[in-house]
Amino acid sequence: MSWDIKITKNSNTNLNNTDFSSLGFGKTFTDHMFIADHYDGEWRDCRIVPFGDLELHPATFALHYGQSIFEGMKAERSSDDRILLFRPDANAERFRLSAERLAMPIVPDDLFIQSITELIKVDAGWVPKGIANTSLYIRPFLFGTDPILGVKIGDHYKYVVIIGPVGAYYPEPVNVLIQEKYVRAFPGGTGAAKFSGNYSATLLPVKEAKEQGCNQILWTDGFEHKYFQEIGTMNIFFQIGNTLLTPSLEEGTILHGVTRDSILKLAKDKGLKAVERKITVQEFLEAYENKTLQDMFGAGTAAVVNPIEGFVYHGKQYNLDFMNREVSKLMKAEIEGIKSGAIPDPHNWVMVVE
Ligand SMILES: *Cc1c(COP(=O)(O)O)cnc(C)c1O
Repeated sequence: MSWDIKITKNSNTNLNNTDFSSLGFGKTFTDHMFIADHYDGEWRDCRIVPFGDLELHPATFALHYGQSIFEGMKAERSSDDRILLFRPDANAERFRLSAERLAMPIVPDDLFIQSITELIKVDAGWVPKGIANTSLYIRPFLFGTDPILGVKIGDHYKYVVIIGPVGAYYPEPVNVLIQEKYVRAFPGGTGAAKFSGNYSATLLPVKEAKEQGCNQILWTDGFEHKYFQEIGTMNIFFQIGNTLLTPSLEEGTILHGVTRDSILKLAKDKGLKAVERKITVQEFLEAYENKTLQDMFGAGTAAVVNPIEGFVYHGKQYNLDFMNREVSKLMKAEIEGIKSGAIPDPHNWVMVVE
């Protein structure tokens, strides 16, 4: 199905005032945004309008009760000047799963994809060209807007897409705290949804982690702090011996990362042994001690692959400079190559915006 999207052009552009060499992450936005409203059981008034503030009723449900979810993905420009998306169907599916967990109406996959592609076409001049490590970040989000203070499932929702050029996400090396005080997710909770509250709940733990010299948290399960879950915005991978390991998804405590899934598939293509299972802190520490730990990295859209340089456990700092990191380098090169159209795309993951 094709959705009818009304376009109102911005009479001003910020493009010429934007310095693409010092973008950072999430600070610069394009000239337009997409908005759709849900009421009386349907998505309505799909529109692309000049980027600007949203006007909200003070009783807006999401502001009081946190009914809000989001997605994060990137568009890149290939060397032959096409604009490419990486597995947008996987983000559409995850957005549906997150909406269902938060009892919100789903955004149909065709509306999700069309809202993004139409918005990118209007702001195509903002997709960075020929500057290393830059891309266009895409942030779809959905939140409850019923102007009612009662806690119940509503009928009014807003689906919005904002986009903006970004540079590399984590410029500094990652030192993780193996967390045993706070909990990110537990079976039956919201850990598998890209749900806003999962992120605000980590701000205080991350602040405390900084006091121990860590800039990220490696979360463990809430019952025994015995099994690894993930990093706040990235999935975790370990290579022990010849096996690439990542925590399995079945308990519903881990976000279904598109990068995670892509790494698992590419690892199998490359003949590597890649396993999803429960991973204990204990076996990790043993692999560290006997130096069978070969690699350890976070995986997510923002940085693709982010090497973990060190970790803190029970107040002690450990460093990881002995690892060979061959797998993380290979995975980063493969995914970046496919995403930017520089190498073949055997799984048909790339979608051209046209
Ligand atoms: C978004 C996110 C990831 C990474 O998912 P990608 O689809 O690979 O970007 C991992 N963990 C959490 C908690 C996330 O929010």
